[in-house]
Amino acid sequence: MVIPISQWIDNIPRGIASKLNFDGDSMAPFVTDYGGINRAAPPTAIFCPSSAEDIAALLRFAYDSDSPFPVAAWGNGGSTRGQAFAPGGVVINMAALRVGGRRISVSVDGMYVDVGGEQLWISVLEETLRHGLSLRSCVDYLYLTVGGTLSNGGIGGMVFRHGPHVCSVLELDVITGKGEMITCSPELNSDLFYGVLGGLGQLGVITRARIGLRSAPARVRWLRLFYTDFDSFTRDQEFLISLSHPDGFDYIEGQALLNHQKVDDPTFYSNEDTERINRLAAEFDRMYFLEGAVFFDSASEADQKVEGLLKQLSFNPGFAISKDVNHLDFLNRVHIEMTHRQSSMTGDDSCTTCFHPWIHILVPMSRIRDIHDGVLKGILQNTIPKGVILFYPMNKNRWNDIMTGVAPDEEVFYTVESLWTASTEEEWKSFDARNNEIIEFCDRQGIKFKKYWPHYTTQADWERHFGLTKWKKFVQLKQRYDPKAVLSPGQQIFKVIEHQATHVSMHA
Ligand SMILES: Cc1cc2nc3c(=O)[nH]c(=O)nc-3n(C[C@H](O)[C@H](O)[C@H](O)COP(=O)(O)OP(=O)(O)OC[C@H]3O[C@@H](n4cnc5c(N)ncnc54)[C@H](O)[C@@H]3O)c2cc1C
Repeated sequence: MVIPISQWIDNIPRGIASKLNFDGDSMAPFVTDYGGINRAAPPTAIFCPSSAEDIAALLRFAYDSDSPFPVAAWGNGGSTRGQAFAPGGVVINMAALRVGGRRISVSVDGMYVDVGGEQLWISVLEETLRHGLSLRSCVDYLYLTVGGTLSNGGIGGMVFRHGPHVCSVLELDVITGKGEMITCSPELNSDLFYGVLGGLGQLGVITRARIGLRSAPARVRWLRLFYTDFDSFTRDQEFLISLSHPDGFDYIEGQALLNHQKVDDPTFYSNEDTERINRLAAEFDRMYFLEGAVFFDSASEADQKVEGLLKQLSFNPGFAISKDVNHLDFLNRVHIEMTHRQSSMTGDDSCTTCFHPWIHILVPMSRIRDIHDGVLKGILQNTIPKGVILFYPMNKNRWNDIMTGVAPDEEVFYTVESLWTASTEEEWKSFDARNNEIIEFCDRQGIKFKKYWPHYTTQADWERHFGLTKWKKFVQLKQRYDPKAVLSPGQQIFKVIEHQATHVSMHA
């Protein structure tokens, strides 16, 4: 429901009035996100806070208002389905908190960093690395905010060993939907702490996170091993994630290449390697590569370790490609590749407005063969992929089930992500139709997947996503911390309600 602006505009507290921008032009960056797919009514205003206190004042005002209005924190707009929209309400432009300098403070003795929820991971790493420290677990793409990522989970190739980003969080400052500023941790206000992690922005705005760190390695040996046999590919991935530190790789991911898809990434491959791999790709309908990394301080130790590991793996002989890079370049590899790709795009490849109809599911290991046969060989059989298909396993015992974020109920599960890029509306609809087919296939086959970065629009689907126990707990937390369902309405979980009501309401 869109609350008419006239119902609250005259009563804005003086302290925050000058930070609300009602100018139509200022809305433009906040009505479309990275996905480019969802369209909603624009917000009524953009809020540019100078401090966490400003956010608290705005949320108190929204909560106390006779007509509570929706408020969404906008991290870096990395959502693909409008999750940071606030139709008719107020979008908090978290980037405004980055203007006055970096709110990042490293404790070398404590091995942690205190960061503002608005900070990008790239800035966090640049700062921690100055002290010889790094993140334990890391997303693939560093131009996402701390708050936006922790609201989802934060996964990447180090999750198998260290769990998602949310598992490295030691403490949070959160501003609830009532405008209260609460510090929480596993010991203090733990229901809010665990509720907010993976909580899709529903319980509060994260304004500070304390995140545990590790020593940074000097260099990284970065490898890609090619397979033409799916079972060998997954068997090797599963073997590698079963090894504990210091054995094995420090990072493991993987990709599926469909329908003779060529590699084209001069930031990693030499021309010669590109030609060799693409000759192999021409012979096989599907190919896979395991991406691994070993973090090291001594090159000779890395040589020995990698040599020992490669002997135990079954990739296509001669198709192990590696290079040594510094730690930050490794962690920032996706951005480096994206920047290179954009600068070299021409004609049909380039799109001024791109759409990203992404699908991202977590699948129990016992059903990964079914995904291969039904999805890679079936639904996507004739798809010319525009984008990448990520495919790699992780260990459930590295996740913390008390958090709101959910994962499949099996010891090992895979992330399967189709990260499509479409240049026209017709194209994104065609990719999205295939995404829907994938979900229908999983449902039909009884595959108990979980969507990472979920997007649902009915209560039944949200209940099924969380499972009954977690859903009930989530609803209770929502009633406690955001009873008027003001926060992050773009997630489409709870509705904004009239001030007379006392409980949040869910979609019918
Ligand atoms: C190119 C790209 C690569 C990605 N790679 C990965 C990856 O490797 N691993 C991974 O796990 N995810 C990845 N993602 C997904 C990403 O984690 C989510 O899209 C995340 O929400 C984006 O963060 P953001 O800062 O842009 O958030 P936004 O899209 O701005 O917001 C997302 C949600 O979080 C809420 N929110 C934002 N800030 C806060 C805050 N401070 N407190 C509370 N709620 C808040 C918003 O209201 C919204 O509901 C990727 C996304 C993109 C676009």
